[in-house]
Amino acid sequence: MNRTVRTRFAPSPTGFMHIGNLRTGLYAYLFARKNKGVFILRIEDTDRERKVDGAVEMVYRTLKIAGIDHDEGPDKDGGYGPYVQTERMGIYKQYAEKLVELGGAYYCFCDKERLESLKDGNGVHTYDKHCRNLDSAEVRRRLEAGEPYVIRQKVPEGTVSEYEDLVFGRISVESSDIEDGILLKSDGLPTYNFANVVDDHLMGITHVIRGTEYLSSTPKYNMIYDAFGWERPTYMHLPPIMKDATRKLSKRFGDANFEDFIAKGYLPEAIVNYIALLGWCPKDNREKMTMEEMTEAFDVDGISHSSSIFDETKMRWLNGEYLKAMSKEEFYNAALPWIEKAVDGKNYDRAELASLMQTRVDILGEIPEKLAFLNGYGEYDLSMYEHRKMKVDKSVALAAVRLAEEALSSLEDWSEDSIKECVVQGAERGGMKSGQVMFSMRVALTGEPVTPGGAIEMAVVLGKEESLARLAFSAQLLERNL
Ligand code: GLU
Repeated sequence: MNRTVRTRFAPSPTGFMHIGNLRTGLYAYLFARKNKGVFILRIEDTDRERKVDGAVEMVYRTLKIAGIDHDEGPDKDGGYGPYVQTERMGIYKQYAEKLVELGGAYYCFCDKERLESLKDGNGVHTYDKHCRNLDSAEVRRRLEAGEPYVIRQKVPEGTVSEYEDLVFGRISVESSDIEDGILLKSDGLPTYNFANVVDDHLMGITHVIRGTEYLSSTPKYNMIYDAFGWERPTYMHLPPIMKDATRKLSKRFGDANFEDFIAKGYLPEAIVNYIALLGWCPKDNREKMTMEEMTEAFDVDGISHSSSIFDETKMRWLNGEYLKAMSKEEFYNAALPWIEKAVDGKNYDRAELASLMQTRVDILGEIPEKLAFLNGYGEYDLSMYEHRKMKVDKSVALAAVRLAEEALSSLEDWSEDSIKECVVQGAERGGMKSGQVMFSMRVALTGEPVTPGGAIEMAVVLGKEESLARLAFSAQLLERNL
């Protein structure tokens, strides 16, 4: 019988979410959706020391913004809860004890000093199985006496544990290489090694999708499934995302934080699209895809075995493609907060500014800088007017700016076409090339060497009054400095 596919995303609230963490969630989501399955959110918060305030809220926020919606989770009960590990403490203890009964685990009473004495020259200790064969009467006596204990995995001896990873193929580990690790700590909290197995089983997870750091520990987890007599899930381990050839992205160093990119003015759908491609490629090599298209195209065969490097330039490019593909209105709505930042309460036509920006930015965060010229004007570097090829110098510029000012002062219809016509005709009358006038006018209007558009576009967005004031100011400035 085919079971309903159930996948999960199991973040630990130990910091923000970088692109690599989110990609794991995204693949688990896409796989579930593609297979008409169920996608579950589980919060793995047993590491109390590393827990960061606000990190759980950040997980919800991030998934929501990214459009990765879970079917079950702490906020959506699907009958497999609780979905927060610290709310499942009784469960782990009960299952650890059951595993002892089944012969897959044992009580260990070794104290710190004893474990210290097992350390090798590098300060690493491998547990020597000291308590593995204590007789049950002794165990009972020591438990009753209230001695502190942990529960350790009883790794079967002399075997090889194997499984077939959907991405990496056959993985096998000799049992002699697996330590009798701790499953339940002396404070009653489970280790990740135990909790992931119990939770995945009880939550009916059919496909475990997670980072390669767990690839080689998985045989050890499978031994726990086997000892319980539980069906093992299918595994898909994902190669890491690197920040360069040698370093992985890291939460600790603040790398590639999803929310930082949103704050910089990336669109969530562009980020999600980009990260989907970090380690997966659809059969037809398409790049720009909606969530529905990715769901449709998602297949395990397209997942790469090798790590990928996070390339912000590429993500920026893709974001620019998203912006260009938006309707005018969509872009206006997305860009408005950034435009407001730039105009700082002034009376410019926001829609005009939006249409100026749509093809000129890759991320919305570039808008305030590109529109900085809107915010007042003052003395600027007049060497900008020197343009040899166009035969413009300060005196030619002065004539051009005056000409533009005069021609435009009586213009009624302040639209792109009529401003253009007016300036071209003015240039003709004054015996100047229209290129010379346009160039000088653009500098005069903005006081900047690089502007998001030509003279006419700048005049349109500045409006008539402001344009004429700026032309007059520039003419005076040139005059004073000839
Ligand atoms: N809490 C683990 C992590 O954040 C999840 C590992 C898993 O998916 O099993 O790395």
